[in-house]
Amino acid sequence: MQSAKNFLDLEKTDLEAWCQDQGLPKFRAKQLYQWQSKGLDDFSALANLPLDLRTKLSETFWPGLPKIRQVQRSKLSESQKYLFAYPDGETIEAVLMFHHYGMSACLSSQIGCRMACRFCASTGLALKRNLSRGDLLGQFLALEDHAGQAISNLDLMGIGEPLDNYTEVLAFIRRLLAPDFRNFSVRRISLSTCGLIDKIYALAAEGLGLTLAISLHAPDQALREAIMPVAKNNPLPDLLEAADFYFEQTGRRVSYEYALFAGINDSLDQAKALAKLLTGRKCHVNLIPANAVEHSPFQATTPAQVQAFAKMLERQGINATVRRSLGQDIDAACGQLRRRNLLAGPAGK
Ligand code: SAH
Repeated sequence: MQSAKNFLDLEKTDLEAWCQDQGLPKFRAKQLYQWQSKGLDDFSALANLPLDLRTKLSETFWPGLPKIRQVQRSKLSESQKYLFAYPDGETIEAVLMFHHYGMSACLSSQIGCRMACRFCASTGLALKRNLSRGDLLGQFLALEDHAGQAISNLDLMGIGEPLDNYTEVLAFIRRLLAPDFRNFSVRRISLSTCGLIDKIYALAAEGLGLTLAISLHAPDQALREAIMPVAKNNPLPDLLEAADFYFEQTGRRVSYEYALFAGINDSLDQAKALAKLLTGRKCHVNLIPANAVEHSPFQATTPAQVQAFAKMLERQGINATVRRSLGQDIDAACGQLRRRNLLAGPAGK
């Protein structure tokens, strides 16, 4: 299906050019830019614009907020998971988490993923397309709109590999940070990657200083390669060197994500090996109690073993926290809701 151009894809300079083409005064571009930062699903609501301009906008653009297909609330109401649909019928997931300090959002960066991590719900569903900067912003604004609250913290940790969609993800981040747009604080943004080394160097050179999380999940190259095919071309020693470089450039401590899978990567010897690997590095380990994915050999480690693993890391002097596992009752693991939806029937085009 051919969709109208996403209004949120337009940068400030694009809005200025468009207004000039339409013979409109410059301040109209400024008004439109301000509207972009607020989230809007219907141009007719733009009360401060003349009717013919609103009509022209509706004829030319799609406002950019994806449709909410489904919302799942966790029993304790500390998180909410959304299934969003774009005009081309493609779906992605996003999660809101409510904390004492505010509301954090976990966004997807691609429709599908091509990294093929063996334990991930998105594996086998392939990469459909990248999300554009406007698609990403639309996700962000649709969440705020539905929750009636501003997002305080942003995690790029949903479906997809954000560094495999580098240009659009960075354009989205830069727009959020713009003082005359949302003036979002870069310190409140985390980006999680499976470890694309060249892109980590590129990110370090951006001079942004967002928190980099690296999905490690194994203490050695052989196991990492077995469960994460991306490791083959991004070997562990080089990855750690890139992460160290990121820290040196930005001063931001790198987080290593380690999901614990029973009998695969959760032994105490593996905890020791992980500690050895990370000793001397300014970093933090996030232990994730795994979400078992249906029909997968990857099963969750018992809570007792998660604690034992964490204790072993601490004993070896490694800073580790067990991530509070929010919303396990709402399929909050990466890609599970979308996967279930896709496998249940037609993709809802
Ligand atoms: N591509 C990025 C972000 C997407 S996944 C990355 O790899 O980091 C977000 C996090 O969830 C990653 O750490 C990923 O490895 C992890 N994850 C995927 N499947 C999981 C599962 N079944 N249980 C626990 N964590 C999982």
